[in-house]
Amino acid sequence: MENLLVYSQKFKSLPEMFGIEDKFSIIAGPCSIESYKQMKIVAQALVKNNVRFIRGGAYKPRTSPYTFQGLGIDGLKILNDIRNEYHLISVTEVMDPRDIGILEKYADIMQIGSRNMQNFSLLREVGQSKHPVLLKRGMMSTVEEFLLAAEYIVSNGNKNVILCERGIRTFENSTRFTLDFACIAMIKQETSLPIIADLSHSLGRTDIVDLMAKAVKSMGTDGIMVEAHPFPEEALSDKNQQLNINQLEKLIGALS
Ligand code: PEP
Ligand code: MN
Repeated sequence: MENLLVYSQKFKSLPEMFGIEDKFSIIAGPCSIESYKQMKIVAQALVKNNVRFIRGGAYKPRTSPYTFQGLGIDGLKILNDIRNEYHLISVTEVMDPRDIGILEKYADIMQIGSRNMQNFSLLREVGQSKHPVLLKRGMMSTVEEFLLAAEYIVSNGNKNVILCERGIRTFENSTRFTLDFACIAMIKQETSLPIIADLSHSLGRTDIVDLMAKAVKSMGTDGIMVEAHPFPEEALSDKNQQLNINQLEKLIGALS
């Protein structure tokens, strides 16, 4: 495997990709973009606490076709307004190659979700874009499959890849998935790709996010992703795992 680009090339760090100073990057925001007001409340909290990245899904990969599927293009427009108004770097998921053009226009980072990590035509297409790609690990994928998915993107020409360990399926059910610390360690040791940990989708709960964040930071992870919502109990998706604004600010404080 050593002749793969992901092992042999030097990649940009997350701050280098955006020309910013950031020791440990925090990407926070709601699971789904629901309204301008919702995004504004989150953005204000981020700016106040010097966090540079905001997230929010407009196209949602929901397990059931009968649950909220995201606002689509209207959500992207909200995200675009918010990133411009608050000078934030935005992350949003792309599920369909046909949406890449519109995402390039309205967002800064294209996320490939866990369920699409091995959607090879989507990987090839984002590989031909110049936009940074945040690639999440498939929930049933090995580290090798994860790196080979990244290889699809970089071998098509896009070197701006950020990996995201978001937990894998195990027999443990007290957390939603099991965050694989060893995956982060191996990727840090064997590649120069930036890797962050998604503490919301991996844990599916909010009470141990602070402790886990400190743990991943201490092992040299490049950053974290966390879901945050002004009123988590009213969220249209993933309500159990989203931090409220107080919890978000407390987390950011604990990491600085
Ligand atoms: C998300 O980040 O919105 C998401 C759906 O995560 P994952 O693909 O890791 O399940
Ligand atoms: Mn979510």
